[in-house]
Amino acid sequence: AVIDRTAAVEPRVRAFTSWDSADALAQARASDERRAAGHARGPLDGIPIGIKDNIAVTGQPLTASSKILASYRSPYDATVITRLRNAGAVIWGRLNLDEFAMGSSTENSAFGTTANPHDLTRVPGGSSGGSAAAVAAGEAIGTLGSDTGGSIRQPAAFCGVTGLKPTYGLVSRYGLAAFASSLDQIGPLTRTVEDTAILLQAIAGHDPLDSTSCQIAVPDYRAALHSRPPRSAPRHLGIPREYFGEGLDPEVGAAVGQAVAHYKKLGYEIREISLPHTEHCLSVYFIVATAECSSNLARLDGIRYGHRSPAATDAVDIYTKTRAEGFGPEVKRRIILGTYVLSSGYYDAYYLRAQKVRTLIRQDFQKAFEQVDAIITPANPGTAFKKGEYAKNLMALYLSDIYTIGANLAGLPGISLPCGYSKDNLPIGLQLLGQPFKETDLLQIAHDYE
Ligand code: GLN
Repeated sequence: AVIDRTAAVEPRVRAFTSWDSADALAQARASDERRAAGHARGPLDGIPIGIKDNIAVTGQPLTASSKILASYRSPYDATVITRLRNAGAVIWGRLNLDEFAMGSSTENSAFGTTANPHDLTRVPGGSSGGSAAAVAAGEAIGTLGSDTGGSIRQPAAFCGVTGLKPTYGLVSRYGLAAFASSLDQIGPLTRTVEDTAILLQAIAGHDPLDSTSCQIAVPDYRAALHSRPPRSAPRHLGIPREYFGEGLDPEVGAAVGQAVAHYKKLGYEIREISLPHTEHCLSVYFIVATAECSSNLARLDGIRYGHRSPAATDAVDIYTKTRAEGFGPEVKRRIILGTYVLSSGYYDAYYLRAQKVRTLIRQDFQKAFEQVDAIITPANPGTAFKKGEYAKNLMALYLSDIYTIGANLAGLPGISLPCGYSKDNLPIGLQLLGQPFKETDLLQIAHDYE
C-alpha cells in the first residue's frame, strides 16, 4: 500500500531522493517468512520506515542531498538502522533534506525541493522536510529525521505530524552524516505520539560505536502511555515569556494559547517562566554549529570518497575543485563562517565565548525545570511559507529557528505536535520541551494533549 501510495503522490510531493520498491518488498516478504516460521512478532514487523538521506543504510545511496555524495553508497548500516531491522521494520526509501541538514525548508537540496502536502506551493520545512512530508502524504508509516537546531520539530510542525528530538546521547549518531556533532540527534517523525514512542523504543539506548551515547536503561515508552500510576500532584507546564513576543504569528500564538487552555482543563498547572538568555541562542547556535560543520565536512576532500573533480591536476587542486563543485552555497557559507570562528586570534572571541554562553543557556533551562515538568512553546513563529520566500532574506530564515535551537544547545528532548490549522488551512505545531532523559514524561504530556 505504501509503495502504491508513493507512486501516486510522489510526482507532486517529491519527498524522496531515491527508493527501491523491490528491496522493500523483499524485506517485507522476509518478515512474513519469519512469522510463518513461528518467530515472535517484532514491534515494527513489516512496517515501512522512511530514512532521511543522511543516515547510512547498507548498499543504499547516502547523498545528504549534496552533489559531493551523489554517487556514494553506504557500505554499512547506522546503528539506528540495525535496531529498526532488529525490531522487524522494513527500511524504506531515502528522504530529501537540506544539503547536509543545513536549512529550514529543504530548498537547499541539490536534488530539488520537496513540497508541503498541505499546499504544494509551500515548503515542508527542513532540514528533515522529506521525512515530514512523507509521513503527511502517507508515503511511509513513520520516518527518521535528524535535528541539530529544529530539523525534526519544525518540518513536523509545517506538515502537521509529530516529531521528536531525543535527549542528546539517547540515540546513537553512528552512521549519521555529521553536521554539528555536539547538537545532532536522530529522532522519529510519525502521525501519533504512540507511534513516536514505538519508534523511539526501537532506536534508543547505549551504543559503544558512539562515544557520546549514554549508558542509560531504556524504559518502555509505549507502555508508559497507557498504564500510569495515579499522580499525587498535578503536573506543571512552563510558558517562557521570551517565546511569546515579537515575531510570533498571532494565529500560531492563539493556537498554542488554546493548547495551554486545554492543558489547564486536564488539570495541569501553568506557570510563567523566564529563559533570560534566549536572545543569545541564535548567535551561539550559528557559531557552534558552523564551527563543528567546518571540521566535520573537511573529510569530504575528493580523496577518500564521494565526488572527485575530473578537472583537478594536483592534490591542492583536487581539494579545491572538488569542494567548489560539490558543495552548494549554504554549505559553503557555513564552512567559511565556521573556519573563521575557529581560526587563531578569533577562537577565544567567538567559539570559546559561545561555549560559555551555551552554559548559561543550559542553566536557564535547569532553573526552569526546578519549577515545571515541561515547557510549552510554539514550534515555529509561523506556518509553512511559500517556496522562494526567504531566498533573499537568509537572516529572517535563521531567526525563525529561535524556538527550537535552545533544546539542542542544552541537550534537552523536544517534541512537536499538531495543534490546529491557520485560516489558510496550514498546520500549526506546538513544542514541548522536557528534562534530559525524561522522554517518558514528555511523551505522556504530549499524549495527554493528543
Ligand atoms: N534550520 C537550522 C539550520 O539551518 C537547523 C538545521 C538542523 O536542525 N539540522 O541550521
